[in-house]
Amino acid sequence: MLSAIFSFFLTASGPTFADLPPAHVERIAIQVINQLAHEYQEKPTLVVATRPEPTPLGVISYANGRCKMVINTNGNAWSEWGRFLNADNKADWDSIIATSVAHEVGHCLREAKTGQHSVQLSEETLSALGSIGNSAVAMSTRVLKQELFADTVAVIYAKEFLPANTAGHVIESMLAAREKFGSADPSHDTYRELAVVVGKSLDRLPGETMGATAVRLLSANPKDDHNPSAMLTMAR
Ligand SMILES: [Zn+2]
Repeated sequence: MLSAIFSFFLTASGPTFADLPPAHVERIAIQVINQLAHEYQEKPTLVVATRPEPTPLGVISYANGRCKMVINTNGNAWSEWGRFLNADNKADWDSIIATSVAHEVGHCLREAKTGQHSVQLSEETLSALGSIGNSAVAMSTRVLKQELFADTVAVIYAKEFLPANTAGHVIESMLAAREKFGSADPSHDTYRELAVVVGKSLDRLPGETMGATAVRLLSANPKDDHNPSAMLTMAR
């Protein structure tokens, strides 16, 4: 009886394996990893596995720069697709999933680590982070900057690889999900900064990698990147 109630709850809150088979997500992931082949030195590997983490898609990033993307077939985690996918946007599911894969690819890009010091957070976001307690703030700020960077890569991906109309819908659904769930999870509350990014031109400069474009879009004053004393200050 308990399991029946539990599975009903999952069905109501997000897609099931029948609605969204893992093999389908895997096909989309392979496609996106290949589309972005020029963005990394070493292609992320991809595994489908049942893991304890609460999200259906994630990456394990190694110190040597290698990156493993995981499609997590844990049933509770799978229902979390419901944050982004619902009956109203069913026509855009594949594009939303592709953009989610691009977010994970973002975590694998070199600039996800090297560009951290340039990422600017608003006062409002910093004060929201402050409310979760001092000892955790530094860690959460780092996580938030990584998430914001990955979200920015995802937005650039949508703009470059999806039809313009679809890209608009996908970016809106991503912003809506971040706005809706951000306050419950301050370290992933990227809505304010992401809304600013989306209002900018997402075009790359000549020769710019997607990661470098994301860093530039998240920098309040990109000139600081070339000012050694500013870099030293911010690197602390
Ligand atoms: Zn992420």
